[in-house]
Amino acid sequence: MAGKKVALACTVCGSRNYTITENAQRAERLEVRKFCKHCGKHTLHKETR
Ligand SMILES: [Zn+2]
Repeated sequence: MAGKKVALACTVCGSRNYTITENAQRAERLEVRKFCKHCGKHTLHKETR
């Protein structure tokens, strides 16, 4: 099993800008600051399931 893919969505506009492969044993939700091309700036992105 290669781990499941999760999308990271901008918390400002809701766009799913990034896709990552999740490690198996991580419990908490991922929150990362990434550049959102829709917002034109770095925003907080959270994983979606
Ligand atoms: Zn955005």
